[in-house]
Amino acid sequence: MAEGRKLFVFDFDYTLVNDNADTWVGGTVGGGAVEKVKAEMSKWYHDWRDFVNKVLLQLHREGASRDDIVGHMRKLKIHREAMKALQAVRAAPDADAIIISDANSVFINTILQHCGVADVFSAVLTNPASFNNEGLMTVAWHHTHTCQLCAATPNMCKGTILREFLKNSAHLYTQVVYTGDGQNDLCALLQLRDTDVGVVRKGHGLEKALAKGTHDVKASVQIVDFLQDLCSVITSYC
Ligand SMILES: [Mg+2]
Ligand SMILES: [Zn+2]
Repeated sequence: MAEGRKLFVFDFDYTLVNDNADTWVGGTVGGGAVEKVKAEMSKWYHDWRDFVNKVLLQLHREGASRDDIVGHMRKLKIHREAMKALQAVRAAPDADAIIISDANSVFINTILQHCGVADVFSAVLTNPASFNNEGLMTVAWHHTHTCQLCAATPNMCKGTILREFLKNSAHLYTQVVYTGDGQNDLCALLQLRDTDVGVVRKGHGLEKALAKGTHDVKASVQIVDFLQDLCSVITSYC
């Protein structure tokens, strides 16, 4: 176990919650907003950011208010293993925690507050979202980048976000523990040093991307069933 201050970095969708918040929101009212928007958008042009805003517009048209959306997001709880893991991080001496996520600030902050773990994180780095006076929620891009590895998410390169965070941080972390499940977590994982750790969800896109063996991963990687063993693995680094 490394001495000194540690940084725990968590992805959100399918890491802290066992679902995708962007599609979960479609169930706010009963009209099947996600399916409607999918049917309207052409198969050859499918930008995820555009898709999320179209789903939110559809919900607004169907009468979903800000309270309806926030109330529905509160039903998407942080899963049991992640809650235990976050409590371990909260209790750990000399440890900070942040979230880097391609979801958005409204969904994440709503769920963190509802589950009572907002205080665990010193930063939530995600797409900024807000409601206008009519109650329409929109999501903006976190940033733009030219990283080839992250070309599928032109609004977010998690590697750039992590690199900038570490560069601007007041602390020199002796160990970074990065926990994620998706293909878009790969770039962040590649930023880690050999003293750092990647906690990778078993059976999801990031594990598959790593299995190709074409990337130069310096960190030690642990493949973990997040719903069963996330707490014990995170606790071992606290
Ligand atoms: Mg994820
Ligand atoms: Zn990248």
